[in-house]
Amino acid sequence: MEGFGLIAENIIHVRKAIQESIEKRRVPVREEVELIAVTKNHDIYAMRKAIDAGIRIIGENRIQEALNKAKILDRQVKWHLIGHLQTNKAKQAVELFSLIHSVDSERLALALQREAEKIGKVQKILLQVNIAGEDTKFGVTPEEALLTASRISQLNHLQLCGLMTIAPHESEIELTRPVFRRAYQMYTDLKNAGLKNADFQWLSMGMTNDYTVAVEEGSNLVRVGTGIFGQRQY
Ligand SMILES: *Cc1c(COP(=O)(O)O)cnc(C)c1O
Repeated sequence: MEGFGLIAENIIHVRKAIQESIEKRRVPVREEVELIAVTKNHDIYAMRKAIDAGIRIIGENRIQEALNKAKILDRQVKWHLIGHLQTNKAKQAVELFSLIHSVDSERLALALQREAEKIGKVQKILLQVNIAGEDTKFGVTPEEALLTASRISQLNHLQLCGLMTIAPHESEIELTRPVFRRAYQMYTDLKNAGLKNADFQWLSMGMTNDYTVAVEEGSNLVRVGTGIFGQRQY
């Protein structure tokens, strides 16, 4: 199978590509890029290999899968939730994840605030923005982003740390660039808006197919699955 024995090599390759993209940047975003290994549908053995090769952040899409893995994983890592979250799973999400990328409504933010307050945590979150307005994707529209962000920033058990976006799948990687550019612009606008309970430092964008362009356009948090582990088996 592609990938499994090559996980460490794949990580080296991805890190090198990220470095090359940083050198092509024209935007003054913080220089380091954090690489999240997206482990959905990959097992504990693959996860251990990635962690032993230097990965420090695991990205998962589904709460139950993440909880099951967290119970048995014998390594120190940070867990990031990158997939859609239902309000009725807010409690479990707050218990496990250090950063939730997929906050896409005030309603979800309120549920997270309640659960974070109960356990005395300040939950770090990102606002997910659906830049291209695709029906198949979650996220607030660019038009809604400022209003939603300012409402969320009233919640004192949440800390709004930036934005997350998923670009449309394109056959030609260059076609993703305008989406990432717009996301970066929104990120800097919101960073400069002086919101309460906010600390804008993360712009989460870029996956296996498009992370090089995303980093060139200012991403500092990339979410790579296939590029590290090979194709997922469903
Ligand atoms: C699955 C997933 C990824 C990783 O996708 P790859 O194409 O395998 O790199 C990144 N972000 C989100 C939100 C995902 O659901």
